[in-house]
Amino acid sequence: MQTVVDKGSLKRLVMVRYGELFLKSEPVKHHFIGLLLRNIGKALTASGIRSHYETPRGRILIFGDDPEKIADIVSRIFGLVDVSICTKTSSHIDDLCAEAVALASAHLSSGMSFAVRAKRQQKSGLDSQELGARIGSAIYEHIPKLSVDLDNPDYEIFVEVRDFGGLVYDSRITAPGGLPSGTQGRALVLLSSGIDSPVASWLAMKRGCEITHLHLDGGRWAGSDVKSAAIENHKRLSRWCAGNPLMMVIANSEPLYDRMQELRIPPRYRCVICKRFMVQVAARLMEHEGALAIITGENLGQVASQTLTNLSVISKGVTVPVLRPLITYDKEEIITLARRIGTFDTHPGDLACRAVPKMPATAAVLEVIRECEQKMDIDTLVTQACTELQYVTALNSEIVSGK
Ligand code: ATP
Ligand code: MG
Repeated sequence: MQTVVDKGSLKRLVMVRYGELFLKSEPVKHHFIGLLLRNIGKALTASGIRSHYETPRGRILIFGDDPEKIADIVSRIFGLVDVSICTKTSSHIDDLCAEAVALASAHLSSGMSFAVRAKRQQKSGLDSQELGARIGSAIYEHIPKLSVDLDNPDYEIFVEVRDFGGLVYDSRITAPGGLPSGTQGRALVLLSSGIDSPVASWLAMKRGCEITHLHLDGGRWAGSDVKSAAIENHKRLSRWCAGNPLMMVIANSEPLYDRMQELRIPPRYRCVICKRFMVQVAARLMEHEGALAIITGENLGQVASQTLTNLSVISKGVTVPVLRPLITYDKEEIITLARRIGTFDTHPGDLACRAVPKMPATAAVLEVIRECEQKMDIDTLVTQACTELQYVTALNSEIVSGK
């Protein structure tokens, strides 16, 4: 079948789908989509891309000079589930067939299998099945020796007919899902040089939180590369909030370890006291940062200090919520996510903690820990840690100030 297409009416654009927002009531959905559009706009502007968008039902269509670059950037925007580079055509079947044949010809050759996934929004005209069959026949006639395989095709092509015209595309780039940044308020994330806390931070971002990072610098008690690896984690996470500066606060925790040593606090309690100190410093800084919760990368049973008993003693160090997005994850699951996020390989060098004892207590008793803390005058140590702060700002995967 020979079809003619008016090339002037074709336009390449980026179509994005959002997920859970569908479940919201109309006013909430409207508000969340507004934030999504703001986030998309900021991310694209930060990369010097001029764009405009349309918002037909259930979709956002982004028009701009470089659809590949736009697709790459928006595929890291929270709240979006997938992204496709499409050609916009008229809704006329001949135009749809011509574009589908043109796109498929670049990817299909004899002997391959394919499937057409067709969808239409309008009530009149061809239904989805007829549409798929017509487009399938056009491709089939154009390229010899193809077969149709709807379950496991070598190549898939998608055609949508909507109020405004047709869309033809053949790839769906997975976006992170979740909720748009800015929908859930701010959280203070305890960010280390490790693998877990960057993933915890990302998961909180994914659910719509804005983030401030807090790193405790253990000075001579921390490995010589700990601080720089934590800053590297911070920098890499800023890629996930493109166009928005990501702030990291660094507080000095060296005096805490000095005091534990000086007062001969039993080494087995050090880890729990250290983590309680971290959440207490975080709680003090929360108001200033406008944060509503503390987030950590702790995980049930991963290390001796992370038993349920110890986590409960740590949480009792503060009255604000301590959230642990990774609590039930296996290490392998965390590593898989860290690779996807781009924070897995930030960790070379000396990252050891010199305060960790050989046998940390696995069932710390709150009263005993409190006695140790009183002896150490923990409140003064917390106050001291909060007075000398360093701020590091990351923007679009670069440290822009404070290093
Ligand atoms: P991670 O758990 O991030 O891989 P880690 O294994 O070095 O780092 P843990 O001892 O498991 O650290 O600490 C548990 C949690 O405490 C971390 O996930 C992180 O949220 C927080 N944390 C640990 N060290 C620091 C630090 N120096 N500064 C800020 N937060 C920290
Ligand atoms: Mg850990």
